[in-house]
Order: sequence, then C-alpha cells, then structure tokens
Amino acid sequence: MRPRARLLLVVFACFLMVGASFDESLAGFSKASSDTERDWETKFRSIPSQQNLRDYMQRLSAHPHHVGSPYDRDNAEWILAKFKEWGLDAHIETFDVLFPTPKLRIVELVEPTKFTAKLQEPALAIDPTSNQQTEQLPTYNAYSIDGDVMAPLVFVNYGIPEDYLQLSRLGVSVKGAIVIAKYGHSWRGIKPKVAAENGAVGCLIYSDPQDDGYGQGDVFPNGPYRPPDGVQRGSVMDMVIHPGDPLTPGIGATKDAKRLDIKAAKTLTKIPVLPISYADAQPLLAALKGPIAPEAWRGSLGQPYRVGAGPAKVHLKVQANWDIKTLYDVIVKISGSTNPDEWIVRGNHHDAWVNGAEDPVSGANALMEEARAFSELLKQGWRPKRTIIYGVWDGEEPGLLGSTEWAEAHADELRQHAAVYINTDANGRGYLYASGSHSLERFVNDVARDIVDPEKNISVWKRGQLKTIADAQTLEERQEARTRADLRLGSLGSGSDYTVFFDHLGIASLNLGYGDEDGGGIYHSIYDDFYWYTHFSDTDFSYGRTLAQTVGTAVMRLADAEILPFEFTDFADTIHQYVDELQKLLKAKQDEVTERDKQLDEELFSATSDPRRPTVAPPREDAPPHLNFAPLQNALDALTKSADHYQKAWQKAMKDGTRAQNSTLQNVNAALIQSERKLTVSEGLPGRPWFQHLIDAPGQYTGYGAKTIPGVREAIELKRWKEADEQIVRVATALQGEAALIESAAGMLEARQN
Ligand SMILES: [Zn+2]
Repeated sequence: MRPRARLLLVVFACFLMVGASFDESLAGFSKASSDTERDWETKFRSIPSQQNLRDYMQRLSAHPHHVGSPYDRDNAEWILAKFKEWGLDAHIETFDVLFPTPKLRIVELVEPTKFTAKLQEPALAIDPTSNQQTEQLPTYNAYSIDGDVMAPLVFVNYGIPEDYLQLSRLGVSVKGAIVIAKYGHSWRGIKPKVAAENGAVGCLIYSDPQDDGYGQGDVFPNGPYRPPDGVQRGSVMDMVIHPGDPLTPGIGATKDAKRLDIKAAKTLTKIPVLPISYADAQPLLAALKGPIAPEAWRGSLGQPYRVGAGPAKVHLKVQANWDIKTLYDVIVKISGSTNPDEWIVRGNHHDAWVNGAEDPVSGANALMEEARAFSELLKQGWRPKRTIIYGVWDGEEPGLLGSTEWAEAHADELRQHAAVYINTDANGRGYLYASGSHSLERFVNDVARDIVDPEKNISVWKRGQLKTIADAQTLEERQEARTRADLRLGSLGSGSDYTVFFDHLGIASLNLGYGDEDGGGIYHSIYDDFYWYTHFSDTDFSYGRTLAQTVGTAVMRLADAEILPFEFTDFADTIHQYVDELQKLLKAKQDEVTERDKQLDEELFSATSDPRRPTVAPPREDAPPHLNFAPLQNALDALTKSADHYQKAWQKAMKDGTRAQNSTLQNVNAALIQSERKLTVSEGLPGRPWFQHLIDAPGQYTGYGAKTIPGVREAIELKRWKEADEQIVRVATALQGEAALIESAAGMLEARQN
C-alpha cells in the first residue's frame, strides 16, 4: 500500500499549502467509505497495461475505418466482442445518417499559368499502412455542397471575420472570388461560412508549413510534421448551428426517424470547399498579385504572400456521393448497486478519417483498458453505487454523429439520470488537459492529485501547476497558480463528443487528455497511423496508461461517492470572472469606436495611406451603449452566497457520515444532477436553438473556441444591443435558479444533521 501513503501525503501537503479545511476523506465520501474507495482505486490503477494499449491500437488502426467503411463496422464488432469477453453487458446501437464521400474533385490554376493540383497523399515505403489507397477516403471536406466554379483567387489568412476587415482596409473584396485560407485559428467549417457571407463562390483550405509542417520541425517520415503532400481532411458542417446528422436535427437518426429533405438541411456549406496540401497551394499563392499580405498573415513557403484578387484564376469542382450510412455505437452498461438511476457516462469515438492511430485510437484504447479494469474489479467484488455507461462512438469525425444521435435518441432518460459525461479523444505525452463544467473543477483537481506522471514521477496535478506557472504571462497569473487551491478548468466550447451532452442536454461534462510534448502534422491525414504514433508520440504508451488511470479513477469516484462531488465555490468564482470579462469587452468596444471616430475626424487614415500602397479608411460607427449588468451582478451575489453555504453544509455532512439517511442523500444527489440543467434554456441561444447551455458554447465565428456566456458575449461582438440586454436577463434568471437549487441542497444536508 505504499502508493496510498504517498497520496495521503500529497493531500496533506496541499492542505498545508492552501489552508483548505477538509480532512483527508475523498470529497463526497464519509471517512469509512473513503478508505474503501481508495483501496479499490489503487487496485484499479494497477491494472491498465501498456502492452494491451499498444495491441488495441495496432488492431484498430490496421486499416482505414471511416464511417460506412467495412473496417469501421469490423472495429465496432471487435470492440463489442472484447467487452463481452471481459464479461460486460454490451451491445451495438445503430443509426442511419447522411454521410457524403467524394465522387469528383478538381483544383486547377487556369490563369496566368496552368497547374493541376494532385490532391493525393503518396504512400511511403517505410510506413506500412500508408499504401492502403483503395480503402482510404480521398482528401476532402465532408458536407461541402457540390459545385463547379471558376474565379479569381484571394488569400484570406485564416479566413475569420477580422481577416475580412483587414482585407477591406487593403481595398480587396472577395465577391465572386475563390478564397484560399490557412488551416488554424477557427473550426474549419467557419472558413467557408465566413467566405460565403462575404460573397465568395468557393473556398480552398491549406496547411501552411509554418503551422504544422517544416516551419515546426522535420517532416514525416524523418520527423512528426506534415510532409508537402499531406492534407488535413475534415468536416465543414456548420456545427455551430447543430452537430449530428444534418437530416435529423434534435432527434435520433433511427431507421424510421422523420428526415428532412437534403435541400432543407441547414448545416451543409453554401459554397464548395476542398482542403489542399502546401505542395498544391504553393503555385496558386505564387500566382497572386495585389497588395502584400499583412506581416502576421505570411507563412513559411519562402515566397512573397500577396492577397490578390487574381490574376490567379482557379477552377474548383466538387461532387459527392450523398449516401445514407450506418453508424455503429458500442454501448456498455455496468448497473449501479444502490443508485442505479444515477448515470456516469464516459465516451470516446472509434471512427477515424483514415487509420487514425492518434485520432481517435489513442483515446479509445485507454477507454477499453478502463472497461477491462472495471471487469476485473467486478470479479473481485467491487460494485459501483451508480450505473456506469461506456459509449464508443462512431461518426465523430464527420460531425459528432454517433454521440449526438445516441444522446438525442435517449434524451429523456439522459436528462433524468445522467449525472456526468466524461470524454476523451486523442492522447499524447505531456501535461493533463482538462476542460469542463466548473462545478467539477475541484473534483478534477482532486483526481489529478492522485495520478502519477510517468515521466516525472510527481503528481500530474503538481506538474500541471508548475506548467501553469511557467506559461503565465503576468505576475497575477503566476500568483494565482501558486496560491489558488485548484487549477482552473478550461471552458468546453465544442470539438468532440461531449457537445451533445453538455451544450444540448445540460449534463455536467469533462474533456480530458494528455499532450503538449509531441508536435505533429499528421492530423486527419493517411500518416496518422501506428507507424507514426509508435515513432513520434507516446511510443511506450505510458501516457495511455496514465489516461486510463485518470479517467477510470474519475469514473469510479463519481460512481461510488455518497454525495456527488459537485462543488460550487469554484463555479461561482469562474462565473464572476466571465461576467467581468463581458464588462471589459463592452468597454473595449466603446473605447475602440471612440478612438476610431477620433482618428476619422483627424483625417489620420488619409494622411497615413501610402499613395503607392493605398489603404481604405474604416467606416464610422456609433459607440456601443451602456448595458445594464445589474441583474447578472445580483445573480452572482446569490450564487456566491449559496455556494459558500453548500460548501459548509457538505463538509459537515461528510464528517458526520455515519448518520447518513439514504432518502436525504438521494434527494441531494437528485438536486445535484439537475444543477447543470439549470444553466440551460429550452429555446436555446439566439438563432441556434439546439445549443441550450447559457454559460458555454462554441462561438458562431470561432467554432471550437468556447464563448463563455455566449448569448451576451456574441450580442456584444455582433453589436446587437437589445439582444444583449435580453440575454443578460435570461442568464441572470438561470443563475438565480441555480443559486436556489444549491441553497435547497444545502438545506437538505443541514436538515439531515439535525
Ligand atoms: Zn477525434
């Protein structure tokens, strides 16, 4: 039991350091049950095997396994057979979804010179799965509409709204043009969306070598970075409207589901899109004239970056097979002993764009080892209090299809029973990255304190804290990382399978993974395979083992706790921060407009426009009005008060654990399960009803980057002042409801003690 002694020491040291007032019992456990839990967790963490992780990866990534491919189904059936072999209750659920695959792809430069893009990633002799061309999906962006356009080319940097503002200052329009954008700085589906809104007729997206090619290091197979012909496939579905099957928004895509006509689907692109390699992009960019691109736009191609428009003229043709394909979600259920109607759900996808060793198998293999370890513990007599559900999702890559359809099909049960969803996706060497619901912030910190980093032999929490200090930009940030009891949890946004659980259903969620020590440029290419992963990433699978230990510990602890370890003081602190940020954002907008109007009055723009490289003055605007943040501030006060109250009641209840009355605990847990739901509204965010979470959503113009308090924030960014005021009231009302729920849970705990 040496590891356990060490863990207690870590907790004790933490107690001294931050002055926290809890004893060494695990949060949510009485003293006696905490000791039992620690014993089971220690047993659990000794089980995951690096060799198994390696074997699963080799098997699952042996062939391309995208949605609809034979090996995708084969993998699902193999995973199912494994679960059954381990004695677990498992089955496959299928859904039928729209999944376009390429039929015709053409990119050619037709003026001033001729060049035809290869659109093909070559096999490499040293990489044994790279030659499976007949099974590989060609390079493309799924859910691009069909189209055939010929137009002048314009380089638009990353293709996000601020890039178009810069273009207009340079006097360049993309109306009627084909744009070429770099990958990065937004969800890729944002690029064609913004291009179309600005009048473009086609969109190319390429990987500049500066971002993940030779600008970063040696390219594959000599190093991990993107080779010249490597292409990032990927979905360009308008996922900020809704993810999942475009034909069945809000409902499960079961056999007999009512489907939209494809013309009525809202999430296909408006213009044709294709991704290309930097070898294919180079001649197109070299043929551009017009203004030199702003310095921050230039990449590593070793030639001048100009924006156009033209004289380069490009022909882009895209046609897809618009087929319905079957998804195979593998579902495992371990029934809870005393609280079977409270569910802990954990998932990772199994489908890939091609062989997908890193994305998703480096996460899926850890999930499998967790399940195997649970099956071992079950044989030794462990029974979780709550029900544990494992989901190995299909169709994540095209648009979070498998998780979204499953959760939509089971929405009523999930809203009633699901306490927490924990997601992983790809994994690598390095630091623990955690984002999620802030009511789980303390819980994640506690788990991280109990996990050992395989490279440094200190806790992953300690390593994470030191990394936070190292990366801090300001004295305040360093100070906070040194003295705050918990490291902050990132906000979720979107980008993986937690989206439906968190954003749509309001289930407290976490997304976990290790990384940051392995760079790479194989994302969504044929080179993301077993050879690459075992040469350039977590080559001995020690971080795969650590991931299984981390997530498995979290699942066990959530499933076994007497009271769900939700904690609201960190939550209230974070919401406070978000509200401060909103006020700062409004002030910054006001200052920006005032300053610009002053500069227009001074005729600054005309004076500083170089006649040989003329720039256009920006338009005059009205300064943003003041908004009434009082409802939000009042809600924050209520939230802070009830969070403190709950914290005290909870600590006392845990100390007096022996007097537990089951019915009270059940009521407290039932309230806690609903706490995240209180942050949602059934009418959703403005213009996108599927997204119902008021505190965190993918930005309409960033995609995976989270927008916190998105209704208010985006109204300010988009200068919709009336909407901003309405959204403030809506969020404040939800937070008041949350405060009332926390208050009632605290009351229940106290009543129990009297
Ligand atoms: Zn993935």
